[in-house]
Order: sequence, then structure tokens, then C-alpha cells
Amino acid sequence: MQLKQDFFTQLPGFYSQVTPQGLTDPKWIGWSRDAAHLVGLSQPTESLLAQLAGNKSIDGACYYSQVYSGHQFGGYSPQLGDGRSILIGEAQGPEGSWDVALKGSGLTPYSRQGDGRAVLRSAIREFLISEALYHLHVPTTRALAVIGSTTPVWREQRETAAITVRLAKSHLRFGHFEYFCHSENGSNEKLTQLLHFTIKQHYPHLSCDKAGYKAWFIQVVKDTAKMIAHWQAIGFAHGVMNTDNMSILGDSFDFGPFAFLDTFKEDFICNHSDPQGRYAFNQQPGVGLWNLQRLAQALTPLIASDDLIYALNTYQTELVQHYLCLMRNKLGLYQPYLKRESQAQDDEDLALIGELMKLMQESQLDHTLTWRQFGQITPTQQHVCLRDDFVAKNDFDTWYLRYQNRVGVIDNIEQWQGLRDRANPQYILRNFLAQEAIEAAENGDFSVLEQLHQVLQRPFDEQVNMSAYSRKPTPEEAGIIMSCSS
Ligand code: AMP
Ligand code: MG
Ligand code: MG
Repeated sequence: MQLKQDFFTQLPGFYSQVTPQGLTDPKWIGWSRDAAHLVGLSQPTESLLAQLAGNKSIDGACYYSQVYSGHQFGGYSPQLGDGRSILIGEAQGPEGSWDVALKGSGLTPYSRQGDGRAVLRSAIREFLISEALYHLHVPTTRALAVIGSTTPVWREQRETAAITVRLAKSHLRFGHFEYFCHSENGSNEKLTQLLHFTIKQHYPHLSCDKAGYKAWFIQVVKDTAKMIAHWQAIGFAHGVMNTDNMSILGDSFDFGPFAFLDTFKEDFICNHSDPQGRYAFNQQPGVGLWNLQRLAQALTPLIASDDLIYALNTYQTELVQHYLCLMRNKLGLYQPYLKRESQAQDDEDLALIGELMKLMQESQLDHTLTWRQFGQITPTQQHVCLRDDFVAKNDFDTWYLRYQNRVGVIDNIEQWQGLRDRANPQYILRNFLAQEAIEAAENGDFSVLEQLHQVLQRPFDEQVNMSAYSRKPTPEEAGIIMSCSS
């Protein structure tokens, strides 16, 4: 791995140097071949294992944890930081550079009351979801590997420590800007430095001046809106959308008690520690904007209010347009089969989508499977089996007629069907599947994890003998609830 140290050398004062605390008896538990390719690695060797476990030094690495702050569940925490994550630098790969972070590698100055560790179950979940979202075409950070160990950690019970090796285009969070805005007593020196670093590293086509700042913030708004549109279309709930968990590049980031929807429920809450539903599924679009407003607030010393407000005002349109595009793909309402969209058509399609979701919710249908089945309907069919699953049959018929009229005539049905399968996945990371992989891994069997990881790499393909991975959970399995403590 070829490491560069741009953050470390250009932003002194934005992190603390730390020493990783090694793991006892480290072991490869998960390995993503395609993530490895991104950073020029091919094999999970013994020597690499010792290095990433923190037991052996890495050529060219600097070890540091970043400082940031953030709004957590609405309240401002003036100082957070990487409490259990150590960055080692930016790895150079064939398609650009990737920050490499060892998440769970021991105490840092930002560990607060924590132990700096991650338990095996949370490391496996982060690994699986990063790779699953990537293959579902959702913007996300990646995971190279999970390393397990015999190092004990205490949660509700004794567990073992693990590390997720995370790859991200950037680890910069909204919370970085909040920290340097609020900690500088009016000098703005570091905030400016941070903004210039961000623009130069990640938006090299933009200039570091008023016009560049404005264009940059418009892009951040757009990327955030796009990420959340993907979540809403695919049925993904992040669970902890605190501003310290929002990547400045609009990548899904810092996974904890996330979940995909099983039964469609618009106000689904996946986080046991969020009884009010601040981060419920249908709150995510609004929270995205709220978080961007906090970011904008932190940027007011540098960027004109008018420019910030202008960008924030583009959020809703960006989100809706992107969401519409994703949902139209799911329904098969796309070019070249349709004439150009108009505002009236947008409104009509949004209503059509909303109506179907309402019917799904009423009938307590599985989100992913219903969409998948729906994607296999030919709209010339007068009777569709799926109708049997809906409780309100007449309402479904009314809806279906509207849908048929909207689709109109299709020239090439086979091609059309194929495209729809590319928009409606068969396999998602359901909590009970993750749980099965975790329990097997805790008992020393990593094959279940490996198999699940394999399946999730081709979520849109019908895979032979893999129906166990696309079934909906039993009521008991659907009851698995996650919390933040991991
Ligand atoms: P999270 O809810 O995982 O985003 O974490 C919020 C903050 O707590 C971050 O600054 C984390 O680095 C920190 N944190 C979470 N778990 C631990 C832990 N076990 N030890 C130390 N810090 C932690
Ligand atoms: Mg993969
Ligand atoms: Mg976090």
C-alpha cells in the first residue's frame, strides 16, 4: 500500500498523533477483494494482518485521530473526535486516493468514557453494509476488511475486539467545520485552512475564492440530497444522522444501528436509542437539510449568507428530482420510453409512487420483495399475482390502471424488464442475515459471513440456490433491535 500524508502534513492542529493498541491473536474475518483493489492490495497476507491489527508498523504510515464536534440528537457537543478510529494516511490506488482508517484500534485523546474498541458484531456490520451499499449503487465509504481477535472487551457482557479497516475518499465530516468554527474565537484561520484543503483535495476544479466557495457548498448540498434520495429509494435507515456522522462528500458514513426496511413502514425507527424517532426512516430527508443548515451556520464566517441560503434552497429540488429518477427506474418510467417530464408529470409520478407506498404500508408488505415482484410485472397484463398481496384490492386496481396508462406502449419489453431488475434489488443486508453471520463468526465459523458478502455483491442478479438470502424475516427475526452501544 502506497501511503500519502496530505491531511497529516497540511493540517497540523487538526488531529492528535496516537499509537494503535495491538490486538491479541488477530485473524482475518472478512476481506473485500474489490475494496482491496482500490488501494492496490491483492492478498490478505499475514504481514498485512499484523500491520492493520496495530501489531506491526506500516511503511509510510502516520497514526492520527481527527478532532471534530457535532450535533448529536439535536444538541451540540463541542468536542468529539475519533474516539476509536486511527487514520494511517491516504492510500494511492488506480482510481485515486483513499483514507485508510483502523476503526477499533484503541484509545485516543477523544475516547471520552469509551475504551477505543469495536466489538466483532459491530465491525462485521460496518463491513457488510459498506460493501452492500456500494453494490446497490448508493454513495458510501468502503470496507477493506474485518480483523477479529481474542482481546476481551466489555459491553453488556464480555465480547472480543475487532477492527474494521475503512476506506473513504475523505473522513471529513460536517462536524469538522463546526468544530473549527466554534473553537477559534473569531480568527477563522483554521476554518479557512480546512475549507481550502477540502476544495483543493476533493473539488480541484473549484477556486478558493467567493465564487468557488459558493459552488462548493452547492455541491455539498447536492451530494447530500443525492445520498438521502438513494436511502429513501432503497429503504435504508441510517439510524444516527448526527452531524459528526455526515461525510462532507455525501457518502453514507459511520454505520451503527442501521437497518433496511423489511415490512414497509414509513416511520420505521431502527435505533433502539432513538425512541422519539428523530432519525426515523421518513425523517431522513428533513434531517439531511437540518444538518446542512448546521454546516451552513459553521461556514458563515467565510461564505456569504446569501450564497449559503441559495444553496440550501436547492436541497429539496435536488432530493426530489433524484428520488424521482430512482423511483421512476423502479417503476419502469424512464427514457426512452417516456416523453420529456414536466412539473405536472413530476407531481403526478410522485403521487403515483406515494400511493403505492401507502398501499404497501396498509398491507404490511415487504419493501424489497414487493418492489422486486413489482419490477417483474408486464403492464399489459390485466391480472397480476401481486394484487393478491394487497388488502385493499379495489384501491390496488385503481392504482394499477393509472400505472398502466402512465407506462403506455413499450417497444422492447425484454429490455424494459431487464432495466427494472437493475433498479429493484433482490438481496439487501437484512438485520437477521447480518445476525446469522455474526453469530457464526463469534463461534469461529466465518463461512456464513463470506457467503453473505458474496451474495450482496450481486444484489440485482437472481442467484441460484440463494433464496435464503432474499426471504423476508420471521416475526421473531424482524424484531431484532440495534442500539448505539457497540
Ligand atoms: P458514533 O455514535 O459511533 O458515531 O460515536 C460517537 C462518538 O463516540 C465518536 O466520536 C466515536 O469515536 C465515539 N465512540 C464510540 N464508541 C467508542 C468507543 N468504544 N470508545 C471510544 N470512543 C467511542
Ligand atoms: Mg465487495
Ligand atoms: Mg460517528
